Amino acid sequence: MPSAPHRTSPDEITPPRTIAVIGAGVVGLTCALELARAGHLVTMVADASAEDSVSGVAGGIWFPHQSEGSPRAARLLADSFEAFRALAHSVPEAGVDLRRGVWVARGAASDDAWVDSLGASADGGPAGRAAIAALPHHQWPDGATDAFSCSLPVVDMPTYLPWLRAQCAAAGVRVVRSTADSVAHAASVAAREGNPADLVVVAAGARSGDLLGDTSGFPVRGQVVRLEQPQDRNGAPIITEWFMDDDHPDGMIYVIPRRGDIVVGGTDDVGAADTTWDARTEAAILARAVAAVPALAGLRVISRGVGLRPARPSLRLEAVAAHPVQVIAAYGFGGAGVTLSWGAAAEVASLVGSS
Ligand SMILES: Cc1cc2nc3c(=O)[nH]c(=O)nc-3n(C[C@H](O)[C@H](O)[C@H](O)COP(=O)(O)OP(=O)(O)OC[C@H]3O[C@@H](n4cnc5c(N)ncnc54)[C@H](O)[C@@H]3O)c2cc1C
Repeated sequence: MPSAPHRTSPDEITPPRTIAVIGAGVVGLTCALELARAGHLVTMVADASAEDSVSGVAGGIWFPHQSEGSPRAARLLADSFEAFRALAHSVPEAGVDLRRGVWVARGAASDDAWVDSLGASADGGPAGRAAIAALPHHQWPDGATDAFSCSLPVVDMPTYLPWLRAQCAAAGVRVVRSTADSVAHAASVAAREGNPADLVVVAAGARSGDLLGDTSGFPVRGQVVRLEQPQDRNGAPIITEWFMDDDHPDGMIYVIPRRGDIVVGGTDDVGAADTTWDARTEAAILARAVAAVPALAGLRVISRGVGLRPARPSLRLEAVAAHPVQVIAAYGFGGAGVTLSWGAAAEVASLVGSS
């Protein structure tokens, strides 16, 4: 079976290490996979599946929502774009598609720096700014200051997460269902499985800070509603264009057409930690989205989700000193954990290689 590319070349492969990865969300799974493919012995220690974590709520579009703007983030974005593009191109069962859609800007609040990290499209079209197509002014929503279309990876998370887990299993990653009270505890859990870990990767999402004495993390509540995806006679999705207007004055709007549903959002309540579904919020999300994308009108609601984006002033991807075992932190991905996952995992693999 073809697999997604990874950045660690055979020349860079270091002697195998025995590694515990805390967390089985999209970040932990991708890190575990990259490390196992680089030849390391990996045990994943997690107390919930990706589907039961915020990764299961993610819409799955490649977009740096609430991600830091830095050269490092730009590199991770570009690396991840390339990995998702390769999956869309050659591994259909992974659930990744490159889809065109429209991004709307509203003044200085809307930062389009992410465009520079765009890879080539599925048909090998240009990358970066040359890949976007400006929309004529008359097609801009009211109050917009710019609008353009481009192709982005859209990940069908209900397909992708099990696929990622299967890749981990095929690469030899062991999985232990357990809560790690500390990094040393995670290492000892791995040892009980016969893999005494000398290095721990903390990819525990919002709870990573508890393990590393870092109090800078904060939740950003997001609510979504998932609509039925109408299908043609061949079972192909009919609604395939995504739409993003994050800075709409009435609240953010995004529409992410996946293979089996359409994720409509949303909200980003900084500091809110309540994961209770709210009917009025959903009604407002739907009203905004239908006004922007009339083709959504009348589509049946098939499920709903509320999640807390694991945010931090900047993402943490680095070796951490002062622990009984070596530690690498991989958390704080906010609203872009899927988006940055492959780049982050490659970075973790190269940190292991250099340690
Ligand atoms: C509404 C919404 C929409 C989103 N849409 C997108 C999107 O379109 N694109 C995008 O890129 N991102 C999106 N995101 C953000 C994305 O969901 C997150 O950035 C990402 O899922 C974070 O993944 P993670 O693996 O770091 O954390 P999580 O998914 O939270 O996984 C954490 C893992 O760590 C484990 N764990 C934690 N502590 C311990 C412990 N002490 N011991 C053992 N196990 C532990 C948990 O059991 C779990 O397995 C969205 C988020 C929300 C809320």
